[in-house]
Amino acid sequence: MSGLYVHIPFCESKCGYCDFYSIKRYKDSDFAADFIKTVVDEITQKAYLFKNQTVDTIYFGGGTPSILPLKHIESIFRAIADNYNLSSSEALECTLEINPEHATDEYFAGLKSLGFVNRLSTGFQAMTDAGLKYLGRRHCVSDNYRYLQLCCKYGCENFSVDYIFGYETLDDYQIEDAFRFFIDENIPHISAYSLGIEENTPFMMKLRKGEIRKMDDDFYLRQFLLIHELLESNGYNHYEISNYSLPGLHSRHNSNYWKSVPYLGFGPSAHSYYEGSRSWNERKLADYQRQIAENRHYAEHEILSPDDLFNEFIMLRLRTREGIDKEYLTVHFAKYKEHFEKNLRRRDLTEYFEVNDRYVRLNINGLFISDYIISELFI
Ligand code: SF4
Repeated sequence: MSGLYVHIPFCESKCGYCDFYSIKRYKDSDFAADFIKTVVDEITQKAYLFKNQTVDTIYFGGGTPSILPLKHIESIFRAIADNYNLSSSEALECTLEINPEHATDEYFAGLKSLGFVNRLSTGFQAMTDAGLKYLGRRHCVSDNYRYLQLCCKYGCENFSVDYIFGYETLDDYQIEDAFRFFIDENIPHISAYSLGIEENTPFMMKLRKGEIRKMDDDFYLRQFLLIHELLESNGYNHYEISNYSLPGLHSRHNSNYWKSVPYLGFGPSAHSYYEGSRSWNERKLADYQRQIAENRHYAEHEILSPDDLFNEFIMLRLRTREGIDKEYLTVHFAKYKEHFEKNLRRRDLTEYFEVNDRYVRLNINGLFISDYIISELFI
């Protein structure tokens, strides 16, 4: 079992909160074609690393993959299919991120005729035009509605929408309206992220100038719990801090990350994880193209020590509602078991855990402060 991620680093503009690597020069068709050629070269160069692996998930993310003509997505997929052992088409999950403003009849018809994309992921982010404007998105709520109509028209039953909460102009009534609509529409998968204000983003500049306000933890927690209660009481499984799905419709690609399944990432700034090592590609496009032309597999590379592997296990598993399998911990991390159990009994932490015969997991309040708890459990 393994996964492949392809990073398409092009966006029409920068959303206020976004710190992903992306650039605007995609309209130059030679430039886009050169980029695709580099990605195809990288896919081919790295195939030997996964010669004993079966790939069961592929994810086209970005940036904005839907900014490119579909023929480029097809070329990348063909390179993957020619060089890797893919699961059968029924077992392969192939996700494409698509921006709501790109949802047209022509695009959906093109996707259908490609035949290999069987899951979509879309950044709705807000369900009011004022919210979208605040977040610096280019699209309108009418694009979100059109996207849903097209999913229905083209029989796309496995898709995810992203939503952002935790900003000053978003009140609880708007959240309730948005999520009641998602529930009524039977949206199969929802990712709900709290707004983070990262360095080198338009929002950080606005924050420094006093043009926007960062909300306090109580505000975030209230909105986080409101979304959790609305979705869980309506049949959604809150299977990871930010992710909810109807039964059987979780993201297999992301779930594999949290189970430490090996993956290769292609494209600028993409990460890979295999054979106990982590590596990163060059972040800037020109540096990445040089990296691949020189047949260098990564810009940075790190071999994980036993302590790192334990920390990684704790960090990834406690993000999920399934939590830590006690037997797995005993078998694979025996020497860390005492350290782990001692921390579970700490008076300041114990209220955040749910423990049964098989699993240790964070309860809902624990999930909200999981970064802090996880760091306390590290070696
Ligand atoms: S949020 Fe998505 S569309 Fe907006 S700048 Fe970031 S990658 Fe591009």
